[in-house]
Parts: sequence; structure tokens; C-alpha cells
Amino acid sequence: MSSDTRSATERRDEVRQRHQEAADEVLPEQTGLYIDGEFVDAADGETFDTVDPTTGEVLASVARGKEADVDDAVEAAWTAFDEEWSDYSAGRRQRVLTAIADAIEDHVEELARLETLDNGKPISEAKIDIRGAAEHFRYFAGIVRENGGETMNAGSRYGQVIKEPYGVVGQVIPWNFPLMMASWKLAPALAAGNCTVLKPAEQTPLTALRLAELIDDIVPDGVVNIVPGYGEEAGAALTGHPDIRKVAFTGSTAVGKQVMKSAADTVTDVTLELGGKSPVVVFPDVHPKKAVALVKSAIFYNTGECCEAGSRLFVHEDIADDVLDGLVSAIDDMTIGDPLDEETDLGPKVSREQVDRTMEFLEKAQEEGGQFLAGGGQPEDEALSDGCFVEPTLIEGLDHDSEAVQEEIFGPVLDVFRWDDYDEMMALANDVEYGLAGGVITDDITKANTTARDIEAGYIWINSYHDLVAGLPFGGYKQSGIGRELSADTLDHYQQTKTINLSLR
Ligand code: NAD
Repeated sequence: MSSDTRSATERRDEVRQRHQEAADEVLPEQTGLYIDGEFVDAADGETFDTVDPTTGEVLASVARGKEADVDDAVEAAWTAFDEEWSDYSAGRRQRVLTAIADAIEDHVEELARLETLDNGKPISEAKIDIRGAAEHFRYFAGIVRENGGETMNAGSRYGQVIKEPYGVVGQVIPWNFPLMMASWKLAPALAAGNCTVLKPAEQTPLTALRLAELIDDIVPDGVVNIVPGYGEEAGAALTGHPDIRKVAFTGSTAVGKQVMKSAADTVTDVTLELGGKSPVVVFPDVHPKKAVALVKSAIFYNTGECCEAGSRLFVHEDIADDVLDGLVSAIDDMTIGDPLDEETDLGPKVSREQVDRTMEFLEKAQEEGGQFLAGGGQPEDEALSDGCFVEPTLIEGLDHDSEAVQEEIFGPVLDVFRWDDYDEMMALANDVEYGLAGGVITDDITKANTTARDIEAGYIWINSYHDLVAGLPFGGYKQSGIGRELSADTLDHYQQTKTINLSLR
């Protein structure tokens, strides 16, 4: 129970003040489009506001990129590629990537606070993101020199197989891990020798702009261009641009399909990192406490706004009551509130629109017979009334075909199913359009491995969740996407293969 005896108004005012002070300290000076090494206004001078989801206050007005701006950015990127970047050796690119990692690491606290202001994620999780972003640049700095190609002596022929960059790539990212997603895109694209135009999500453009400030002296002009703006404007102009040779998109499956269609017009290579509705399977041999801790993190980390979130729980009948009771108490113990507070477990969702979307799913779930074991609404605490908060929610009793089970809610909502027949459970676990990730919780190594193989998804955690290690490929099966990030495979996605067949006669 909280020992805080202050009124809701006092607590709300304290949050507002803390956010104002943080904004004064960490908001980037530049909020223009970053094109050819300069921060510029949009061609038509328009801007859009980015809002702090904890307080509802406008944080900054950001230049609103559109087609003409994307054209400028793509042109600048090609000039940089042709005149400078394509001559950089792997070793020189390695030094650039390492310097970017250093710059991020030197600003972890500042970038984390900025991310929390713009996105609403708890500051403790924001710091993990920022360190992860730096780590990602280091990983690609590490493997870039190994990317040498192959040679082959074949009788009267000598063959060389070399990897060449595409030239200029277009990259579009979502709002849930803003700087981390930017690093997942920028690091491999640069390592592979490309120049890039990156569009951050309209809800969370600020850390990408701050990164542009930080790397301005590290990366030659035009190699990295950042064009904030709306999806239908800057995003569609970029992914459909005739001079983009490769599109890398992370976002919803619905938009990913549009991106793939528009890339078809120019036969442009596409990688897609899309949505998920991942199952977590709990076997009866584990201690319920262990299952509770893992399941809680699988769904509630980052306020449930994770593509890989473990959002469907399949818990064995024999321990279901203990696990569900444990989850309800764990939810009771969660601190929901100001994400700038180190003690906070669950912050606001990113926007009012996302709250409305989650609430619609919860209403439908109730209509379809779902029972809320915990949560189901927005917190009643008046001190949180400025923010986009949704309670951590457990729903039981839904038919597996219902919308709240089949669709990605992208919030702190867990659908619960009990099982006692493995084959029936696995048929349901795989009965969704998505196939991004999954979790298995058991101390039986054989069951763990069999289940990991049976789940139709690209990434399975056994007795952990969310920890993504650079070097282990991440990406989806089915409608969760095409391609892999975080690994050597990713470099291949940013390169094309050239074969040179030399006759020795
Ligand atoms: P979204 O698809 O609405 O938007 C993603 C990005 O696409 C944004 O930058 C947006 O402006 C842009 N966009 C929107 N319409 C566009 C269009 N017509 N053409 C080009 N770009 C367009 O997704 P979101 O709500 O920002 O993010 C949440 C989604 O991202 C979830 O589905 C989540 O699962 C997914 N995601 C996937 C991964 C992964 O690695 N698989 C990682 C993070 C998030």
C-alpha cells in the first residue's frame, strides 16, 4: 500500500513539474528534417506536434516531411553514396559505427529521459533500450570486416562472388522502441555500405533527431538522412520512391502489406518486421512463481507495446490456479505511474489513439464473454488522469477465434487459456496469422525443445523472454514478416550479390 498521503492534484502537479524540468534539460535543439547534414524546415514549412503521453503536453513542433522532402533526402543520399561513402573501406565504416556507438553510450541518461518523455516507457526500460542501441552499432562494427565475399577456382574459370551495397535504402520504423528500432535499421545499412533515409514514427521522432545531432560530426553529410512525418505522407513517399533500391520496414502487418505492394511496382527488395500475437506455454513441472515472473515480463514489459509480447498464455491445468492467482497479485504489486520515476513498472501508452484502440478491444472482449481476472480499464487514480494509462489486464474465457485473441492489441493485455492436451493446445497456439515469437516455460529439456520446434514462429525463448542478443537472428514466420534483424543475415538483406566469372583461357 502506498504511504503517499498527498492529494491527487499534488501528485499530478509533481509529475507535470518533473516532466517540464526534464523537457527543459533534454529536448533536442534541432527539430527540423535532417537532410544532407543540415537541419532544415519542410519544403512547405509545415510542422506537427509530438506530445508527452504522461502529461498530455506538447513537447516539440517537428518539421513534417512530405514527398518533396523525401525527394531531397533521397537525392542527398545518392550524392553522398556516389561521391564519398561508396569509397569507404570496411575498416573505415567500422570506425564510423564504433564512434556512433560511443556517442550513444556517452548520452545514455539524456537519451533515455528523452525517450521516456516522448514515448512514455519507464525510464529503467528506456536505459536498456539506449544501451541496446549502442550495442547494436558495436555488433555490426564487429562483423563488417568479415563480409568479404568468396572466390572459386573452377578449371578454366576463376569466380568471384562479391557483395555490393544497394546504394540508397529507405527505412521506416514504429514508435515502441524509437531509438532502438533506428539502430536496428541504421547500423546494418551503414555497415553494408549503403546511405539511408530513415523515417521515424510521427509519435516519437525526438531521439532519432537527437541522434542526428550526435552523429553529425561522425558521419559524412548525406549518408544518414532523417525525415520525420506521417506514414501516408513521408512514409509512403519513401517506401514507394523509384530511386530507393531497398525498403526496410518495421510496423504493423496491415501497413507492411501496403509497403510490399508499393515496392512491387519497382521490384524493390523489401524486409518487413511486423506484428505478433505470441504464445507462452507453461508446463506443470515448473514452480508457479517462476512462471508468474516470466509471464508477467513477457506481456507487461514496455507496457505491452512489444511486437514480440507474449500476449497469449497457455498454462497447464494442473498449475493454472496458482499461476493465475500469482499473476493477479503480481499485477496488484505493479507500480503504475510516472515513467520518469525509477520505481515505475508500467507507464502510459504512447498516445490517446492507442488507449482508445486498446479499450475497444477490451469492450469487445467483454461482449464476447471474456472475464477480467485483473484490470480491464483505465486506472481510477486522478493523479494519472492527464496520461494515456491502461491497467494491466488478464482475460480468461474468450474463444480462441475472438478478435481480442486473434489480433494484436499492442497493450498490457494477456489472454489466458488452460490446457491439458498438448496437441490441442499447440493447435491453438499456432492458430493465428502471426508467427513472430513464443515462449516455453519448463524445466524439462526435452519438452522445452519439442515445444520450441512445434511453435510456428521465428524466435522462441525457453525460460526467459524479451532478451534479444545481437548475433541471434530476430524476425517472423507467417504474417509477422520477411527477413531477419540483429545478425549477419541482416547484412545480406542490405547487399546484393555479384558474380564475376573470369575465363582463364
Ligand atoms: P504502423 O504500421 O502504424 O506504423 C509504423 C511506421 O510506418 C510509422 O513510422 C508510420 O508512420 C509508417 N507508416 C504508416 N503508414 C504508412 C504507409 N502507408 N507507408 C509507409 N509507411 C507508413 O505501426 P505502429 O503502430 O507505429 O507500430 C506498432 C506495430 O509495429 C506493431 O504491429 C508491432 O508489432 C510492430 N513492430 C514490429 C517489430 C518487429 O521487429 N517485428 C518491432 C517493433 C514493432
